[in-house]
Amino acid sequence: MKFHTSARTAFEALGVRIPPEAAEVEARFPVYVNDYYLKLIDPANWRNDPIARQALPDRAELEDDSSSFDPLAEEIQMPVARLIHRFADRVVLLATGRCAMRCRFCFRKRTWTTGMELDDISDAELEEACAYLRRTPAVREVLISGGDPLMLPFEHFRRIVDAVAAVESIEIIRIATRLPAVWPQRIDAELCDYLRRIPGLWVATHFNHPRELSAEARRACALLVSSGVPVINQTVLLKGVNDDAETLEQLFRSLVALRVKPHYLFHVDPVRGVRHFATGIGKGLEILRAFRPRLSSLAVPTFAIDLPEGGGKVALQPDYSAGAETYWDIHGKKAIPYRMMRCKESR
Ligand code: SF4
Repeated sequence: MKFHTSARTAFEALGVRIPPEAAEVEARFPVYVNDYYLKLIDPANWRNDPIARQALPDRAELEDDSSSFDPLAEEIQMPVARLIHRFADRVVLLATGRCAMRCRFCFRKRTWTTGMELDDISDAELEEACAYLRRTPAVREVLISGGDPLMLPFEHFRRIVDAVAAVESIEIIRIATRLPAVWPQRIDAELCDYLRRIPGLWVATHFNHPRELSAEARRACALLVSSGVPVINQTVLLKGVNDDAETLEQLFRSLVALRVKPHYLFHVDPVRGVRHFATGIGKGLEILRAFRPRLSSLAVPTFAIDLPEGGGKVALQPDYSAGAETYWDIHGKKAIPYRMMRCKESR
């Protein structure tokens, strides 16, 4: 797979002239994208293309200087290097800063922005993280993330998973990866055969748009699922990419048909250089409302925001309380008090 480490070669491969602002943007937030993902872009309309917006530099990234590189305060919630411990029963292990693509909306830009790159986890760091897990048995779940842990050489990735799985109190391992969406060819039989043997292991993919579900991406998901690996997906709600109910309905329906459960729909985090992707919470709630009458609950993810300063995830739902006191009586065809209906039911 050919990877482009500069805006110049990425735009050349796309067959369009490099925009003048690209050099200034990539000096701050590097460009990294491969030929596979570029082929999903419509070059004739690249400025408005939902795939291009996720991969190619945009002047708007430089116009957002107020937000932080770590708005979720992950760095101060690390009891040992590489391990974020925010909730009692689970932790995040940052395995690497490598990714198959530098997503322009990434909430961990601090692991790959120029001058802030995170190396692959060392054996000493892995041992320190596992020692912490052994002396903190309340932790039952480890989310192995980054960057993208599947970008590591397979043997290195396997050492990490084996070490975490060997901790007696760990029941669940989640591998967070965007590879099925941005480099699906990398998901192969050897990897799936290994993953399926790890008890309690789930894969969490990251698809944001139905056009990311190419034939290759579908093959990657099918390979994981048919190998016996449970797969969930998280999506980030992004202005100009997927902020309408029709687009997300198509994405979520397709994922469920592939036996990939839409797990989370996240509002974008207030990371530096990302503000132009923010839709506002109201947009997410409006989309959920539109889903209610027409989309199976199997296909509807939890809409959530991550609170700033490490406050954690909060799930959001449209407010239906205005109708909570009455309920339509299907026999009498009139509204009856909700409390009365519950009494009837309990009889
Ligand atoms: S693959 Fe994930 S971690 Fe890497 S740049 Fe994209 S969103 Fe960020």
